[in-house]
Amino acid sequence: MKSVKKPWFHTQKIRDDLYCITEPHYTWENRANLWLIKGRDSDLLIDTGLGVSSLKLYLADLLDKPLKVVASHVHFDHSGGCHEFDQVFIHENEHHALCCGDQQQILSAPEIGFVPDSDFDSIPYQGFSASDYEVKACPHASAIQHGDVIDLGDKAFEVMHLPGHSSGSIGLYHAKQQTFFSGDVVYDGELLDNLKDSVVDEYLTTMEKLMLLKVQEVRPGHYHSFDQRRLQELVKQYIADKKAPICPSER
Ligand SMILES: [Zn+2]
Ligand SMILES: [Zn+2]
Repeated sequence: MKSVKKPWFHTQKIRDDLYCITEPHYTWENRANLWLIKGRDSDLLIDTGLGVSSLKLYLADLLDKPLKVVASHVHFDHSGGCHEFDQVFIHENEHHALCCGDQQQILSAPEIGFVPDSDFDSIPYQGFSASDYEVKACPHASAIQHGDVIDLGDKAFEVMHLPGHSSGSIGLYHAKQQTFFSGDVVYDGELLDNLKDSVVDEYLTTMEKLMLLKVQEVRPGHYHSFDQRRLQELVKQYIADKKAPICPSER
């Protein structure tokens, strides 16, 4: 029998204005990084985790200003907690799916069982079962698009539409600090381009854009943060893998 873990989340303070929140009892391979950025006039939360425990209550002590919540894309490990928050933004391509709780798009392919019980080493509450897992609809979410700016007063984040992993995947770029919050567009692990809403050609175009991005630090949706040199290695590797000639026996 698995134990109930409270709090469900873990917070790592990176700087005075930057925190990384995770769900340590959910499998490492799919565990998302949720980024909280403190601004002068408002705070920004990038991604909201699975939604199996209240992130809003958990974060209450850290929040003293209006909060803007941006989902890097609609997949469940990023959008699960969005419904709890008042000001929620998602790219226009995935806006409808989040607003109406389209589980097909949110879970990508529920029939292949993306959220099995075995992915949890503890549970968020007594009676939790992954087989009942669903992401709640967020009917009040607003749509954003490429070029929009999320302004916190003393810092501004530019929305970059970077499809490929999913049609509404975005990154948020802070030009002054040269920090890039990359969601699932790029992280230091196996990139997923074989989901129902993935498009490899679009991913390649996205990667070519990332090659030109000036960054000091990438804060990804999964795994560890990295610098521009590693970003370029990951991008080059992806492009090389996709453009490699296919062996005749594999056709
Ligand atoms: Zn994803
Ligand atoms: Zn993800």
